Parts: sequence; structure tokens; C-alpha cells
Amino acid sequence: MKIIASNFKTNHTRKSTQEFITKLDESLSQDSNNRVFVFPPNTALLEDSFKNLTIGSQNAYPIESGSVTGEIGLNQLQEFNINTILIGHSERREIIKESQEICIEKFNFFKQYGFTIIYCIGENLKTKQNGLDSTLSFLESELLGIDINYDKLIIAYEPIWAIGTGVSATCSDIENVHSKLKQKLGKIPLLYGGSVKPDNTKDILSISGVDGILVGSASWELGSFCKILENSKEC
Ligand code: PEP
Repeated sequence: MKIIASNFKTNHTRKSTQEFITKLDESLSQDSNNRVFVFPPNTALLEDSFKNLTIGSQNAYPIESGSVTGEIGLNQLQEFNINTILIGHSERREIIKESQEICIEKFNFFKQYGFTIIYCIGENLKTKQNGLDSTLSFLESELLGIDINYDKLIIAYEPIWAIGTGVSATCSDIENVHSKLKQKLGKIPLLYGGSVKPDNTKDILSISGVDGILVGSASWELGSFCKILENSKEC
């Protein structure tokens, strides 16, 4: 069983999300092998009641409801029966300037409500160029304060330099980092993300220590995401 997750980021409208997810759910009916997640934008959240996939939120503020302009909280997610969330995506850390402290706060809050949490970590190019030890200590810093024994935790290793660039990390890069992370994380599922496409899905999912993939751009078009799912079947 592999975990295959699609992150729409700021793509798709409510209408196109509905069409995409309905068709995807139908196409997945015979595919019981994978656990599939879709993270649409918050304006396009759908009731998490599909048979073959789970809807999650890309982001929410750690609050039930209240005065945080521009954010959504637990109440808004619960209205859609959403109990899965992405935390720590590098675009939120880098562009929105989310600190490790706020990632920890979000993690603790949504853990308390039993959410499945896909928690993202990943180094930038400069850190990668400083060698594997630098990368590992950076990744360690992004795990600081996170309860890695939480049974609904999934970690996604997403090197920033591979995200949206079209150039995935090499299989040996992925294997090196995943094998080290696995020593720390034990049974926690560990995904890889960063320019996963239909034609590299099989190779990446065959790497030891890769329990699944988090896909951005190559998952926004239904045909492409279906190919990724197809290519992940025998892994
Ligand atoms: C991501 O942002 O989580 C991601 C993996 O993006 P992409 O697949 O486009 O590199």
C-alpha cells in the first residue's frame, strides 16, 4: 500500500475541483491498493465523504473559531467532515514566513482533534550543497517540537530545490535521506515530494523507505494524476 497525495495549491476552482474529484473517485473504485488524498484550495473544500479518497485542507489556523482575518479554523473544517491537514509545506514556511513555532502550534492543535497530519520538511539548495549532514540536521530542526510518535502522522520529505522545478531529486539522493529519516521515524509513513511525474513515479516509489508521494503540478490535470496512480499500482 502506498500513499498518493495531490496538493492543488492555488489551482482549481470549486467547480473544477468538484468535477476532478468526482471523476477521480469513480476511477479509483477498483484501486484498493493505494491511500489517496487530495488537498484542494480552502474555497473548494468538499465534504470528506468520497469512497476512495480523502479530502484534506492545505492549511488552517489552530483555533476553533475567532478573530484571525483571512484564515479558517476547526469549525470550518468540521462542517465538511475534514480531518486531514497539511502542515509545514515549504511554500508556507518560505512565502508566508510560517515559523517552526507556528507549525508546532498547528500540529499540537490538530493532533488534539485527532487529525491525520501530513507534515512537510525539506531543505533548500544551499543546505543540500553543504552535504548530507547539513541536510539531515536541517530536517531535524524542522521536526523539533513535533510528536513523531503520533499515530496519525505522515511525514513528507520535499526538498525545496525539487519542488515545481521539473527536476526531481535523484533516486540515490532520496534513498540517502529517507534511510536516515526512517531510522528516526520508525513506522511513521514517509513520503517523497518534488517534481514527481507519471514517468518517474515507479522509480521513486520503488526506493526503499518511500511509502508514498506528495504531488503538486503533475497532479493538477486529471489525466496526469491518473497516470501517476496507474504507475504506482505495482509498487
Ligand atoms: C509540492 O509542492 O508539494 C510539490 C511536490 O510540488 P511539485 O510536484 O510541483 O514539485
